[in-house]
Amino acid sequence: MFYNSTRNSSIKVTSAEAITQGISAEGGLFVPESIPSISLDEVKKLGGMSYADRAAYVFAKYLTDFTDAEIHYCTDNAYSTKNFETESISELAHLFDGTYMLELWHGPTCAFKDMALQILPYFLTTSAKKINLDKKIVILVATSGDTGKAALEGFKDVEGTQIMVFYPEHGVSPMQKRQMKTQEGGNVGVCALKGNFDDCQNGVKEIFTNEDVKAQLSSGGKMFSSANSINWGRLVPQIVYYISAYADLVRSEEIALGDKINIVVPTGNFGNILAAYYAKHMGIPVNKLICASNINNVLTDFIKTGVYDRNRRFYATCSPSMDILISSNLERLLYLMTGRNDEVIKDWFGKLSSEGKYEVSDDIKQKLAEEFYGGFCDDSETKATISEIYKKYSYTCDTHTAVAVKVYEDYKRETGDTTKTLIASTASPYKFSASVLEAMEGAVSELDEYAMVDRLAELSDIPVPSALADLKTKPERFNDSIEKASMREYVLSHLL
Ligand SMILES: *Cc1c(COP(=O)(O)O)cnc(C)c1O
Repeated sequence: MFYNSTRNSSIKVTSAEAITQGISAEGGLFVPESIPSISLDEVKKLGGMSYADRAAYVFAKYLTDFTDAEIHYCTDNAYSTKNFETESISELAHLFDGTYMLELWHGPTCAFKDMALQILPYFLTTSAKKINLDKKIVILVATSGDTGKAALEGFKDVEGTQIMVFYPEHGVSPMQKRQMKTQEGGNVGVCALKGNFDDCQNGVKEIFTNEDVKAQLSSGGKMFSSANSINWGRLVPQIVYYISAYADLVRSEEIALGDKINIVVPTGNFGNILAAYYAKHMGIPVNKLICASNINNVLTDFIKTGVYDRNRRFYATCSPSMDILISSNLERLLYLMTGRNDEVIKDWFGKLSSEGKYEVSDDIKQKLAEEFYGGFCDDSETKATISEIYKKYSYTCDTHTAVAVKVYEDYKRETGDTTKTLIASTASPYKFSASVLEAMEGAVSELDEYAMVDRLAELSDIPVPSALADLKTKPERFNDSIEKASMREYVLSHLL
């Protein structure tokens, strides 16, 4: 299996090269040259395997330049109870009639990003070895809150790597901020940016592709790679859990082998839902992919109209990991939907960066409508949903997951579709205690963030994740906060 760039289809690299480079030199994203298939028989067999073995099975179809031993080295290290609080790594919870929560937050940072970022450092260091790279790998991360911490935990003290994370100063929850400021490890750096997530992402992208910066790093024996979901090594682990969840639903006889399911994904950068799209096109029977957004509803409009327009107000919401106006991974979807037309992609994404807007062709609009349903809700609806499902089902969910539940309810009402449905549950409610408590108790809590965690533990069935319980006593190590304009200088002075 080789990988092409979305902006130059003639570029052809191995998975080890795609993973170490992160992004293609001309700014395109790497995609596998074809989508491998998985048969229903294979899916059924996966049901009898551990999560690590399921992952290895799927990876063998994508990372064909890795040996079996290399793949198992990665999966066994990443997906064990050393890093995850449950044996099955991801958990399925039956919420209500035909609706299942796919809990992806039992890892060390309590968000679904761990599913990919626990394994990415192993993919990266293994890839570097395979292509005889003698440079230290420098990871730059732009985060809307969860990626940054998950990447820091994944890379801390991994030999041959160094990591620096930028987050929007006022765009993350207090708990997320504490998690990053207290990060341990000798090869880590964390800095706040006076701007929003898109500013962080644009800044990182600019530094990443800047020839001058690259040359300076290279002479210091270092090179950039990316832990954002533009890196294929972030996406491929996410395909696994959709296949794995389908296998579990069959095994527990909730569905019959071959039955279609809907998948609902609370979406920001379009990485997680793109992984569901890949799972579908590999052969998992999927009816609709439901793309749920908060009030930053650029994707809802895009799915409905075919016009992507980021020229709009940016809102800070109670689901901050979805406060995004540029969904990078949409580029991969459109590349596939246009029949891998790199010229069209260059045109649209050129317009996105010059005018903030592009419109897709009519046949793409039709394909989008066939595969996806897009919906959104605001903060008050998000909180009302948390309260409602707590009262009705005694289930506590976080703000991002609640957006997905609300949009799914709208979808069901609109379409009358009764297909069984998997909802991606992307964070532990404890990570967003303030908003979750406010929703459950009907008033803004006066408690500090740790007392809130304790209060939530009294109300909810879900035990407090040990990683969050430990935060209280950890010293803060990183307090820098800078302007957008000084990002490049900051990176160079800290990394060279
Ligand atoms: C990152 C994140 C999302 C959005 O996922 P994308 O892959 O960016 O679409 C949703 N919920 C939580 C909790 C997240 O951390």
